[in-house]
This record gives sequence, structure tokens and C-alpha cells, in this order.
Amino acid sequence: MKSNITKHTFSEREPLFPNPENLFCELTIHEYLNVMQKAKETVVAFLEENNKPFSGITPETLRKQFENIDLNDAPKNYADVFEEVRTLYTQHAVAFHHPKYVAHLNCPVVIPAVAAEMLISSINSSLDTWDQSTGGTLMEQKLIEWTCNEIGYGKNSDGIFTSGGSQSNLMGMLLARDHYSIKHFNHHIKKNGLPENAHRFRIFASEAAHFSIQKSASILGLGEQAVVKVKTDHSFKMNSILLEDAIQKEIENGNIPIAVVATAGTTDFGNIDPLTNISTIAKKYKMWFHVDAAYGCALLLTEKYRHLINGIEDADSVTVDYHKSFFQPVSSSGFLVKDRNYFTLITHYADYLNPKDHNENEIPNQVNKSIQTTRRFDALKLWFTLRIIGKKGLGSYIERIIKTAREAAFLLENDPHFEILNRSDISALVFRYSADPFRTFDLNGINTYIRAQLYRQGNALVAGTKLNGQFYLKFTILNPLTTIEDIQTILNTIKHYGNEYIDIN
Ligand SMILES: *Cc1c(COP(=O)(O)O)cnc(C)c1O
Repeated sequence: MKSNITKHTFSEREPLFPNPENLFCELTIHEYLNVMQKAKETVVAFLEENNKPFSGITPETLRKQFENIDLNDAPKNYADVFEEVRTLYTQHAVAFHHPKYVAHLNCPVVIPAVAAEMLISSINSSLDTWDQSTGGTLMEQKLIEWTCNEIGYGKNSDGIFTSGGSQSNLMGMLLARDHYSIKHFNHHIKKNGLPENAHRFRIFASEAAHFSIQKSASILGLGEQAVVKVKTDHSFKMNSILLEDAIQKEIENGNIPIAVVATAGTTDFGNIDPLTNISTIAKKYKMWFHVDAAYGCALLLTEKYRHLINGIEDADSVTVDYHKSFFQPVSSSGFLVKDRNYFTLITHYADYLNPKDHNENEIPNQVNKSIQTTRRFDALKLWFTLRIIGKKGLGSYIERIIKTAREAAFLLENDPHFEILNRSDISALVFRYSADPFRTFDLNGINTYIRAQLYRQGNALVAGTKLNGQFYLKFTILNPLTTIEDIQTILNTIKHYGNEYIDIN
């Protein structure tokens, strides 16, 4: 009887409208396979056709091609759209996988993570609550546990995947602010807003720390003024004596030191602040200790260099950026805390989503630990990566990168045409072409010219940065396939453009 009714209702159903042609569902499996194949072919063309890191196109030229595009045009077919995307995007996309791309902190990605991306966006779980993610939540928790364990955290630790190091740093500063306020003033910022003395809160970070620390302070209502920049030593690491001086000076001025941020792997130099010393000072002044290991988390993967980040396990919170240092596609990052109770500082309960009566252990709702609600299942990429390549395999990539960076530093140090600023703990080198050391030139002019020419030509990409008003070039080596010969070729090209500038001027 019952099955009859079902049958009847089904036959009475209106024909499907709109046509499910483009919807991801079991009716369109053929279309799915077909289109994914085309997408893969586009990626392969990107690999095969772009034999240098960048085409060199200018924004002006590329923008012209957008002028006659009307997004309300009649829909096109896949072949046309893939072709359009090829001319507007993939043809000119910067190739992070290219061995002569040594500019910003962009790693080449590993294939298992790319495979995971396809599952992530097709199945499209949202990791905010158990009832939208199920096994995804448990996989994320397992990876967080793994990361905490690698950091050296104990059983009470916990964490969450985030959209990037900036969000992780924001969460660190948020917890630092709210924790301090409750502990020292019995004032709950989550409920009552900033306390009257909030403008006196101070966060200490080195002058080489990432700008997201200042941004966080401003977002959190403390103002950028809250960030006290501590001077670095000759190797661009925070000087812990100057840190303590700075803390005392702020206290004398009536200000309130709430947190110290140590950078494990600075963006410009790849150098690591003295974590243990800083931790001791943080404890002494009852401050929150946050370690920004967006870059330096790479060292968690290698036995050989792990000691460089010893002390990270003392941090109240840690930023790791898998999309900086674990060969993961954007986005994939983590925020870890020593004590999971800290997360209650940001938990909000919504009856429709994560009601308060959901016991944490019975029904895990990751939204309780996140400042995002709907959240990608980025963790799956790291899962695939660890299962297919493993920690040791990734570690061997990192060791190769560090070795290449050290050899590159050696080349720069031993060439009188170059001036190198740092010895990196990881793989970032800041240097400039200094031309003939016995003659004076406009070095800012030369090096700015070199960078611009490299970008215009596209055969090799390097970054640029400024220190004390001087312009420098920067290598960030994150590709295990980059050889010392590649570096030598880039250095020769730099010399070539340097000399060209001198000839013109
Ligand atoms: C890149 C970086 C960040 C920011 O990370 P995103 O993933 O770009 O948001 C933070 N800290 C350091 C040291 C970084 O290098």
C-alpha cells in the first residue's frame, strides 16, 4: 500500500525544471567526469605551456581584454569558457611550482592535496557543526591533535583550522586580550566590550614580525598603537633584553603588557626569535605568549632542524600555516592553544546551530572554536598529504630547501657584487646587488630596476623589501626542485640587469 503511494506521487511529479545539467548530483555524473577532465587538461596546459614563472604581462595590457566582457551575455559552452579563462588567467598566472619562482612565501603544492581539493569542493562539507561534516570534523580534530603533538603540547591542547596565518594571529591576540581582561580585571570583553583601560593594553612583537599583528590590534579595538615593536639583533631576531626593557618602560608609563608575540620564521628573513627566553619573560610578567610559526612550522617536519623552534611548546597559542610550509594549496592554516578552555572565550551558542546542551564530547561542533561559521574542509588536504607522503617525506623537502638556501647564502657572501643581510634559519635571503664595490652607485635605483626587469621578463621572480629606507631583493626558497644552478642563473640575470642600469644611467 505504502509503496503504491510513493509510486503514484513520483509519476505525478512535474518534469524536472530547471534542467539539472549543471548541478552536482547523481543525475549528472557523466557531465561531472567530462568537465573535470577538461579542467585537468587546462591545468596540464598551464604546466606545459608556461615554461617560465610569469609571462610578464602588465595590468594595463591584461585589463584591456576585460573591457568587452559582459557577464550577462548569453551562457557559453565549456570549451569557450576554458579558452576565455586561459587567455585571461592561466596563461598569465604566476607559476609557484616553477623552480625559478623564489619570490614570496608561496610553496609548490603536492598532488595528494590537490586531489583532496576536488573532494572538498564537490562534497562541500561545512566544518562548523557535526551535523554538516560528520567524519570531516573527526579528521580535522585528528590533524589538530597531530599538530599539537608535533608542537610538544600536552593533553589539554586543542586547535582549529583557519583561513590563514592572519586569522590565526587575530585569534591569538583575541584570546590574549580577553584572557588578560578576565584574569586581571574580572572583566568579560565578550559580553561587556572593552574595559576602560583597554587603550593601555600593550602587545610586544619584534620589528620584523608580520603586519597582521598590528592589524589584529586595530581590529580588536586596541589600536595599532598597542603594538610595541621590539628591536631585533644583527640576525633580525627579537632581542630579549630589549624586550624586557620595553615591557618595563611601558609599565612605568602606566600601560599594561598583555601579550608577547615571538615570530618563528620572520616573513623577510626566515629567522626565529629566541623562544625560550621570550617565554620566560612572558611568564615573569604574566603575559600571554603567542608564537607566530606561519613560516617556521616547516621545522616541525624535520628532526634535523626541529631544535631551532624549541620553546614553541611553552606558547599559550601558536599560528601554523600549512599553505606556507607544508606544500598545501591555499587555504590551509591552523591555530593551536595549549589549553582548550581558552576557546570558551570565543564560544557563542546559537540554538539553530550549536545549542548549549550539545555536550562537547558527544556532539563535536567545531564552530565553538572558530571565528568563522561556514568553513571549508581544508583539513582533508593535509590528511591526504600525511597519508601519501608522510611527515618524513615532507621533512626531506624542507631539508632540501634549507640546504639550497644555505648554498645560495654562500654564493652571495662570496660574490663581491652582492651584499647579503642575513643568514636564514629557514630559507629567506635578503640581499642587494652592490655592483662594483669600489664605486658608488644609486643602489636603491639599481635594485628597484632589477626587480622590475625580472618581473617584466618573467624568467625568474624574486621579491623585494625595504630595510631602513633601503631597497633589497629577497629570495624565498620553498621549492625542493630549485637547484643551486637555478639560483646561480638568477644571480647572473640580476647582474646583467644591474649592469644594464649602470649603462643606461
Ligand atoms: C604569511 C605570514 C602570516 C600571514 O599568513 P596568511 O596565511 O598570509 O594570512 C603571518 N605571519 C607570518 C610570519 C607570515 O609569514
